[in-house]
Amino acid sequence: MKKIILIIVAFIIGIVILVNMLNTSNGVSKVELEQKGYSLLGYDYCTTDHSMEVGGDAFTEWKCELCGIVANNPDTNTPELCGNCARITGRCHHCGKLEK
Ligand SMILES: [Zn+2]
Ligand SMILES: [Zn+2]
Repeated sequence: MKKIILIIVAFIIGIVILVNMLNTSNGVSKVELEQKGYSLLGYDYCTTDHSMEVGGDAFTEWKCELCGIVANNPDTNTPELCGNCARITGRCHHCGKLEK
């Protein structure tokens, strides 16, 4: 009986760690990302079709507005947010505005 409880506890801890990892970006928590998003990027919704935007053909280094991670983009049309921040805060990867 004790063994089963231990397995359940280990399982719960595993889930908590996993959820935590999914809700942080570059070590910044979801709550912080959302607060930063509202103060830096506002409450507007994205209405732009970003698929029409074409950047220049050059590798460009950019920094995510929310978590501060630095990455390279294959063209000059750099995004505002990294994939993680966009997913966690429900914002547009390209312009940082809220996704509907
Ligand atoms: Zn980010
Ligand atoms: Zn957008």
